Amino acid sequence: MDGVDAREPSFRDSVDIMFNRAAGMLDLPSGMAEKIRVANSTYIVRFGVKLRGEIKTFTGYRSVHSEHMEPVKGGIRFADNVNQDEVEALAALMTYKCALVEVPYGGSKGGLCINPNDWEVDELERITRRFAYELIKRDLINPAQNVPAPDMGTGEREMAWIADAYKRIKTDDINARACVTGKPRNVGGIAGRTEATGRGVQYGLREFFRHPKDIAAAGLSGSLSGKRVIVQGLGNVGYHAAKFLSEEDDCLVTAIAERDGAVINEAGINVEQLKEYMNEHGGVKGFPGCEYVENGPSVLESECDILIPAAMEAAIHLGNADRIKAPLIMEAANGPVTAGADEILRGKGCVIIPDMYANAGGVTVSYFEWVKNLSHIRFGRMQRRQEEAWHEMLIGGIEEVTGTPFPSDKKYMEGADELSLVRSGLDDTMRSAYQQMSKVWNARKDEGIDLRTAAYLISIQKVADSYATLGL
Ligand code: NAD
Repeated sequence: MDGVDAREPSFRDSVDIMFNRAAGMLDLPSGMAEKIRVANSTYIVRFGVKLRGEIKTFTGYRSVHSEHMEPVKGGIRFADNVNQDEVEALAALMTYKCALVEVPYGGSKGGLCINPNDWEVDELERITRRFAYELIKRDLINPAQNVPAPDMGTGEREMAWIADAYKRIKTDDINARACVTGKPRNVGGIAGRTEATGRGVQYGLREFFRHPKDIAAAGLSGSLSGKRVIVQGLGNVGYHAAKFLSEEDDCLVTAIAERDGAVINEAGINVEQLKEYMNEHGGVKGFPGCEYVENGPSVLESECDILIPAAMEAAIHLGNADRIKAPLIMEAANGPVTAGADEILRGKGCVIIPDMYANAGGVTVSYFEWVKNLSHIRFGRMQRRQEEAWHEMLIGGIEEVTGTPFPSDKKYMEGADELSLVRSGLDDTMRSAYQQMSKVWNARKDEGIDLRTAAYLISIQKVADSYATLGL
């Protein structure tokens, strides 16, 4: 975020402000809101790795926000500006997110102060393995207690290193693979995890556009098809969201902002080609067929139907909120709108689909991966062919009774494989969580409740109920 306004609360404070607004509207036992709000613990580990002829010291964090359910869950971020405030804010968001989408975890988050681009792959592997060791020996990585996943700056590769580090230390843990999610398929990953957060953004927007009152509240009309979308960040989340929305829902992605600037094309950007170009050239500058602007954040202020900040926190802040024109913001990143900006945008009638819902696709599919690892069997393995046999019998029966052959499309016959089950589970999760939020939002609009507050009301109540059951 450029030019931080002194009045801007920190990320952690922003989350607390949003939490407090909702908690104050709930009838909770005395002290419960405070118990839920605070992070239970934050570990700071400092460790040395001998690299390039000298000892380099690294600082990492793992914060556990709430253990009302275990294991706790949350990604590990590699970025040079990782700090305690940030990991605690992100861990808190994980608690609320998991409660909202009914994934049975408490919230956690981790981070390592490092710019991954500064290191060769083998160096990064040694650093990651050492960080993992520091967390494993404190049970801050453990299939029953604390299960990380990828976040900014990490992906399948890092998760595979972490899983292997765990297995080497806990050689007799038969559930070792469940110690981390977001792994490659060949070491226990699940189909559809890499794309899951972007896929969840797509499913979430589809569900929003199934709610006419909500569409009208944003001053929009019609369906998702043809909507003009601006995306910030073409990493894991932003790339998949932009790709699916443009390729499968006929949205026009008119601008994409990245680190080195933004590209604009009112006729729609080919997301796949831009991603390939970025992989080759390291940025978006020079991508053929698009206008380029060096001031990337300025495109967030352009006219569009849906703005998807998918890069980092505080992209929309006190300094630019009043210039944002999008009537609908889908918070694909965590904390992309500060508490101050949130207030300004709400005042302007902008509808914000909050991060704790918008990017919950990742943790939802992580949950499926963890369950798969604990059950030691791929989803669909037992029933797929049996389902096919049933379909074949049924279709044969229909053909016999009607005397008409069924269309020969094999799709009718197919049993569900792992990918289709994952997508079905994710779609169901995103639909039902949105329906709950929308119900509360519409029922209590007169009290000034927005979608974010609705999401907090639902999740805080669920966490409070869990604590109450535990005797607190
Ligand atoms: P990533 O590292 O894969 O991608 C981030 C992208 O943003 C990169 O392409 C980077 O170049 C770009 N970027 C960085 N700073 C920028 C800036 N100032 N302006 C424009 N672009 C910038 O990270 P990711 O996994 O896609 O995560 C992005 C956000 O989504 C984070 O807030 C993360 O916490 C959140 N999130 C990620 C997941 C997941 O499954 N990966 C799940 C939930 C939430």
